[in-house]
Amino acid sequence: MNVMIDLPPWAVSENANLPDSIDSVEDRMRAVIRFAGLNVQKQTGGPFAAGVFEKESGKPIVVGVNRVTPLGISSAHAEIVTLMLAQSKVGSFDLGAEGLPEHQLVISAQPCAMCYGSIPWSGVTSVVIAASSKQVESIAGFDEGAIHPRWKEELERRGIEVTEGILAVEACEILQEFVDSGQAVYNAKTVLKNNRS
Ligand SMILES: [Zn+2]
Repeated sequence: MNVMIDLPPWAVSENANLPDSIDSVEDRMRAVIRFAGLNVQKQTGGPFAAGVFEKESGKPIVVGVNRVTPLGISSAHAEIVTLMLAQSKVGSFDLGAEGLPEHQLVISAQPCAMCYGSIPWSGVTSVVIAASSKQVESIAGFDEGAIHPRWKEELERRGIEVTEGILAVEACEILQEFVDSGQAVYNAKTVLKNNRS
């Protein structure tokens, strides 16, 4: 028995077309948000994307997207998919392992409870976030789950720096585009609503 988590063909091509390095965090986020937008337009998953970059050099390891609905896997959030692909590519379950350059996770929206938990395990030393959970919930109606109120401090205590609000407006536009497209919001909230009706 096994499970396969993959990127849609367009995202494989787009990864191949990424530059060798992307210097600023804004430009790294711009690349990630572009993937989120394409994922909505091509209907290959939810309106979220994430990228793993070498923190100093800006070399993109992989940019991935949410794959929950096409794969039928609830944990195929952008962060999980991308970290798995990056670790597979780098050849280490620990992106902070000795001998490796530091890695940065760039995500189009604040991580949900599940993805938040995956960050310290991944070995990244930096997280860059666009839209806040509040924005994700208010615009798109996704339920991000219970997260520690001091989530940011808890990451920083583990040596993971957190940068929030980078290109949040652009990320929110993609969320709105997703809502306007009428694609399904697939979380527990939806199930609860269905159960009530
Ligand atoms: Zn998540």
